[in-house]
Amino acid sequence: MKRIYLFLAMAGMLQTGFGQSKDKDINIPDLDNYKTLKCDFHIHTVFSDGLVWPTVRVDEAYSEGLDAIALTEHIEYRPHKDDIKADHNRSYEIIKQYAKDRDVILIKGSEITRSMAPGHHNAIFITDSNPLDTTDFKDAFNAAKSQKAFIFWNHPGWDAQQPEKTLWWDEHTYLYENGCMHGIEVANGKYYFPEAQQWCLDKKLTMIGTSDIHQPIQTDIDFNKGEHRTMTLVFAKERNAESIREALENRRTAVFVGDKIIGEEMWLKDLFDNAVKIENIEKKDKSVRITIYNDSDLRFYLKKIKHDPGITYFRDYEIKPNCRHTINVKLDSGIISGKIDFEVSNMLAKPGKGLDYQFRF
Ligand SMILES: [Zn+2]
Ligand SMILES: [Zn+2]
Repeated sequence: MKRIYLFLAMAGMLQTGFGQSKDKDINIPDLDNYKTLKCDFHIHTVFSDGLVWPTVRVDEAYSEGLDAIALTEHIEYRPHKDDIKADHNRSYEIIKQYAKDRDVILIKGSEITRSMAPGHHNAIFITDSNPLDTTDFKDAFNAAKSQKAFIFWNHPGWDAQQPEKTLWWDEHTYLYENGCMHGIEVANGKYYFPEAQQWCLDKKLTMIGTSDIHQPIQTDIDFNKGEHRTMTLVFAKERNAESIREALENRRTAVFVGDKIIGEEMWLKDLFDNAVKIENIEKKDKSVRITIYNDSDLRFYLKKIKHDPGITYFRDYEIKPNCRHTINVKLDSGIISGKIDFEVSNMLAKPGKGLDYQFRF
C-alpha cells in the first residue's frame, strides 16, 4: 500500500511539472555589462486561436530555458469562445502562480487584432486586457497606452495582410507619432522581415522576434534537429520583468531566428566578443596560427572582406558551437603584425549586411 502511495506522489510531481529538465536550453553568453535573457513575447493558447492549455506554454518555456514569456491572446479573434467562456485576462491568471513556481518571468499581454492597416500589434506590460476590446482601433491603442504598455507591430510582412510588399501605412505613422508603437517584429516564426529591421534602425524602434506559436511547440519546431523557436534576446541589467522593460525601452535586443541573429551592431559585436575568445596566437616566420574557442551553442559563418593583400586566410569559415578552432594565416615576408578582417554573415547589423569583425595578431 505504501508503495502505491509513493508511486502516486511521484506521478503527481511529474504531472505538476516539477522534475522537468531544461533539456532544450540554448547557451547564449551574457554581454560585458548585461545579462542575455531569452524571451518570447507572442504566444497563443486555447483562450484565443491556440491549441494548448496555458500551463503547457510555461512547461515548454521552462524546458527551452526561456527567461520570460507573454501570452498574447487575440482580443478580437477567439474561435473557441463557445467552449471556453472567459474574459481577456483569464489565460494569464491561470498561469501566474504556475510560471512563478518554475521561475519563468510572465509578462501580461494581448494581441490587438485588426485588418491592415494597422494590422496586428501586441501590447505587453499591461495590467488589464479587457479595456482593449473596443470598436475603433485607436481606442484600443489608447487603452493600452494608458496602462503604460510596450507596444510592437506584429508580422508586418505577413502575406495574408500584405501580399505584395511590406508597407508602412498612414495608420502606422499615427501610432508611431502618438507613442503607441515602440517596436516591430523583425521576425515572426520562421519569417524575417528586412523592411522591419530597416524601420527599426531609422525610427529608433526595438527589434523583436517571436514564435507566435499556436500549436504545441514540438509540432512547429524539430528540437532533435537542433531547431529553436524564434525569440528576442533581451540584454537586461537584471533577470526580472522591470529590467526587461528597461532594456526594451532602450532597444537592447537582438532577434534569434534560425541561424541568424539580427540586431544593432554594438550588441551583435558584444555578443560575438563574448561567445568567441582568442585563446592563443602562435607566430612563425611567415605564418600565424590563431586558436579560438566558441564557448556557446551558437554557430557563426565568417566571410572574408577587404583585407591586406599580404595576409592570406580563409574565404569562408564556419565556427561550430562549443568548439576549438585553429585559423591558419600566411604572411608575405616582412609582415609581423596585422589583422584578419571578416564579416560574420549570419549576424545581420543591417538588411543584407553582416557584422564586420577582425582578429588582430
Ligand atoms: Zn497576429
Ligand atoms: Zn499572434
